[in-house]
Amino acid sequence: MPVACDHILRFQPIFRRYLWGGRRLGTVLGKPIGPEDDYAESWELVDHGADQSVVRFGPLAGTTLGELVRQHGAQLFGNSLFGAGASPSSFPLLMKLLDCNRTLSVQVHPNDEQAAKLTPPDLGKTESWVVLAAAPGSKIYAGLKPGVTRDDLAAALAAGHCETTLHEFEPRVGDCVFIPAGTIHALGAGLLIAEIQQASDTTFRLFDWNRVDAEGKPRPLHIEQSLATIDYARGPVGAQTPQPIGEANSALRRERLVECDKFVLDRVTFAAPTSIGGDGRFHVLCVAEGSARAANDPADQPLARGDVALAPAAAGAVEIVPYGKTVLLDISLP
Ligand SMILES: [Zn+2]
Repeated sequence: MPVACDHILRFQPIFRRYLWGGRRLGTVLGKPIGPEDDYAESWELVDHGADQSVVRFGPLAGTTLGELVRQHGAQLFGNSLFGAGASPSSFPLLMKLLDCNRTLSVQVHPNDEQAAKLTPPDLGKTESWVVLAAAPGSKIYAGLKPGVTRDDLAAALAAGHCETTLHEFEPRVGDCVFIPAGTIHALGAGLLIAEIQQASDTTFRLFDWNRVDAEGKPRPLHIEQSLATIDYARGPVGAQTPQPIGEANSALRRERLVECDKFVLDRVTFAAPTSIGGDGRFHVLCVAEGSARAANDPADQPLARGDVALAPAAAGAVEIVPYGKTVLLDISLP
């Protein structure tokens, strides 16, 4: 009998070291990083070419996310999303944790249409961030200041700067920022971020703060593609306003942080057992605060802060028991 894909899945993180990374993926989020001091990203859930999350626990241990999609698509995605004419060939979302020890480059991602022309076969990238921790004074740069045109931005870049054109603000822990494709953005030094995005790797870098790498070389810039991709009508971008979903009480509050055509991102704050899913779709869960135990989880450890789990559609409604007040990000397809 084939193994069923109807229980909580947890995956091996994949680390990326970049010049802007640090140590907090290990020290704050408990990830098994090595001794270096530039751990920038932990890819928690990915099915993108050779980058594959691998199941850690239970009967599917060792299976990649891509294999789950190909061999268990109906159980993973649910019948409403998997069937005639709508069978995804790969997992559509990518979940990362980012330790922004230094400010990231200023960048922009294309939308699906632009990506089809500029970077096939990769899709565009719409993404969203939730701030898990922020050092005092940490900044987010998102969107252009009001009235900044393509010519203004091109002139600033030609003069070796960019900051004067960017909208910036100091986010608080828990803030969510929605970055649709075409939005110019940079995460500032001091932030620890949970990021959900389309499973794509198309990034155009406009400005790298005039930095050089360990060999003294600047990282490549993609100024023409960036200028062609930016949505100049978008203007300044701030934190999302959470929308309450259903009745809140002292033990349970659900808020919608983002609803777009690529994903829905909710935040669940709870202090008593609650259930998630059961709507015929998969749910990506990420613990932002606290810890919890999910029913039907073959792992012998609770979900701790920074842990990510995937509840396949076939898992149905999954009971989650928190240890004290817990905050869970709950991501699904629209
Ligand atoms: Zn980005």
